[in-house]
Amino acid sequence: MNNDNDVLIIGGGIIGVSAAYFLSQQGVKVTLIEKGDICAGSSYGNAGLICPCLSTPMPAPGVLTQGLKWLLNPESPFYIKPRLDPDLLRWLWHFQAHSNKAFVQRATPILRDMQRSSLQLFRDLIEQEKISCDFEQAGGLALFRTERGFAHGQDEVEEMQDFGLEMELLNGDAVRELEPLVHPDIIGGIYYQEDAHINPALFVDGLAEAAQTYGAELFTQTEVLGLETVGAHVATVHTTRGTFHPKEIVLAAGAWSSPIAQELGIKFLMQPAKGYSITMKKHAKMPKRYLYLGEAKVAVTPMGSDLRIAGTLELTGLDLSVNQRRVNAILRAGGNYLSEFTANDAPEIWSGLRPTSADSLPYIGRSRTINNVIVATGHATLGLSMGPVTGKLVAQIVSEEKPMLDLAAFDVDRFAH
Ligand SMILES: Cc1cc2nc3c(=O)[nH]c(=O)nc-3n(C[C@H](O)[C@H](O)[C@H](O)COP(=O)(O)OP(=O)(O)OC[C@H]3O[C@@H](n4cnc5c(N)ncnc54)[C@H](O)[C@@H]3O)c2cc1C
Repeated sequence: MNNDNDVLIIGGGIIGVSAAYFLSQQGVKVTLIEKGDICAGSSYGNAGLICPCLSTPMPAPGVLTQGLKWLLNPESPFYIKPRLDPDLLRWLWHFQAHSNKAFVQRATPILRDMQRSSLQLFRDLIEQEKISCDFEQAGGLALFRTERGFAHGQDEVEEMQDFGLEMELLNGDAVRELEPLVHPDIIGGIYYQEDAHINPALFVDGLAEAAQTYGAELFTQTEVLGLETVGAHVATVHTTRGTFHPKEIVLAAGAWSSPIAQELGIKFLMQPAKGYSITMKKHAKMPKRYLYLGEAKVAVTPMGSDLRIAGTLELTGLDLSVNQRRVNAILRAGGNYLSEFTANDAPEIWSGLRPTSADSLPYIGRSRTINNVIVATGHATLGLSMGPVTGKLVAQIVSEEKPMLDLAAFDVDRFAH
């Protein structure tokens, strides 16, 4: 098969589908290649948070030290599989090098602005395309069980209010007034006023349908097998559905983007960071907004009549196996923070891989190594939230329009040397 479309997108998650939508809407001939179904990767079972209030980057003072202390705890929210992998070691080195106050000051407003712009796009897209996806802009609520956790919460509110983020510290009674199912043991919380939640798979599927109405071609069950370059240009893309000769390629393959980039000599640092979610159908008692269980680092999200609980971050490579002990720990956290939390008989247990850059900022832009590849990945824990704005930025790069946000921090080659 010979296909000569303008833009070929690799990956049918929130990032690839958002790019397909905005590109096709502006009249570009787009083909999206997805090895499974649309939204089969990390975009499927995530916690569904659209959360400008959670704009602190992952590397922050003390994060790795705390992570290393947790290493021997089989139920901790963080785990690194010990291995002598040079890519992992370089990633960890750069993560630690960014774990300082100066970086938090620089990165927080960048993540805030990306998420705020994206939240606006979510609202617009849902309205324009009539996407039914359980979207609610009802804010979010962090909960704390310990004095230490609550004190951290207090510091967080002071720091984040300096960035103009709308959030408020609440005592236990005020928290229960907002969400009556919060456990009596909870001593306080933070109300994140700006935030929203959504059923991510319903949104991505709806947006994919809309992209098709603008002419995007989506090929599912089709895998990119290899890319052939001529000089600094990809000339041919080999897939299980034949070869393609696009003018431009968007690399949006989530955690699987690294091996493809490596094949092209594009050097960025990324690790898959595994997490789990457990979705309970028709949960008896539902919160109105997402809850973030502070000490346990677990999110609980209402999605229509379903309740999803999600957490853990494991650096175990491209491995989707489920560690039942950590799944049990997530469920136990639910019971510790909520008074009416019951996992029903057949919850859906899911694992996903967050594509995580070493500084937790995404890679968005043209690679300087290969001039017709635009990279759009590495969004770590905020890829759903930053999905629509990333798609819009990709479309602006392709059409050589001025990007709506500064792309300097997302430079694809920032770790190349
Ligand atoms: C437990 C958990 C909770 C999370 N909660 C949130 C949250 O609340 N809010 C938030 O913003 N983010 C959250 N995230 C992160 C978010 O899910 C990701 O950042 C985001 O989904 C990444 O989207 P993506 O499109 O880059 O990747 P994916 O959704 O993984 O999409 C990549 C796609 O590329 C396809 N692909 C790969 N290789 C090939 C190939 N060779 N050929 C063709 N196709 C290929 C894959 O099949 C996949 O469908 C969470 C993640 C996890 C694991």
